Amino acid sequence: SKVPPIILNNGVQMPQLGFGVWQVPDDEAFTAVGAALDAGYRSIDTAAAYGNEEGTGKAIARSGIPREELFVTTKLWNSDHGYDAALRAFDSSLEKLGLDHVDLYLIHWPLPAKDTAVDTYKALEKIYSEGRARAIGVSNFLPEHLERLIDATSVIPAVNQIELHPHLQQRAAREYHDEQGITTEAWSPLGQGKGLLEVPAIVAIARKHNVTPAQVVLRWHVQLGNVAIPKSVTPSRIVENIDIFSFELDEEDMAAIRALNEDRRLGPDPAEFNEG
Ligand code: NAD
Repeated sequence: SKVPPIILNNGVQMPQLGFGVWQVPDDEAFTAVGAALDAGYRSIDTAAAYGNEEGTGKAIARSGIPREELFVTTKLWNSDHGYDAALRAFDSSLEKLGLDHVDLYLIHWPLPAKDTAVDTYKALEKIYSEGRARAIGVSNFLPEHLERLIDATSVIPAVNQIELHPHLQQRAAREYHDEQGITTEAWSPLGQGKGLLEVPAIVAIARKHNVTPAQVVLRWHVQLGNVAIPKSVTPSRIVENIDIFSFELDEEDMAAIRALNEDRRLGPDPAEFNEG
């Protein structure tokens, strides 16, 4: 595939660009994941909470692509924190996906007020030791949550999947991840496609390279070293979003995007999100 891999801290290779399916209903996920696999994506990001593990799994089976060429991520939902609950939740996800292993299993949110992340992660370590997840990690963990986890467990998370786009560049988190050998994965990499793709600086860079604003933003992620998982259900955009490996942003472009940071979240603040 034309998508370059990132080498995770346990040696496993993860495509730097994947396909996200949040807010895609199960039957549409079957179609959208099928279109993404046809377009050349080999990494798919789902979650128990998205309610589309079955459609995702069916699209994978239908594609006929050898399992070892795919990188499948799913996530453990908040209501399944705790050691035993996490083991059960993982079995349920595998069954829905129709797979005997995933490539990456993540704790979806840290739930700091519940203080259940360490016990939950110990279940992920067991799953990892059994080879049922080729890598394990977390999502939405702040550096303080990661620090506590790393102190109390033995497998350093391979990945932290966090909200990250030009309006929320997450410099401190990225630096901390780099120090710890944790790969930064960007969710909502396009800022959910709202105002971000109309920002004049991004539109200007797109014109300069004869590409689209979405391609500029995804290329920025790749050049920063992030894994990015854009979502679309529109076939032409699915193709467009993976076609970012034949142009390069220069230092001036990177600096112009760097200047767009506003530390502005679209999603919840992980320090205060304890639902489920
Ligand atoms: P995104 O930043 O990928 O934006 C997706 C939206 O942008 C689309 O719905 C569409 O409206 C628009 N878009 C996509 N391609 C476009 C293009 N080429 N041109 C113009 N507009 C385009 O947002 P997202 O879905 O929130 O995030 C991507 C993935 O990240 C999710 O599907 C999910 O897999 C993951 N995610 C994870 C968490 C978490 O808590 N771990 C939270 C949110 C999302």
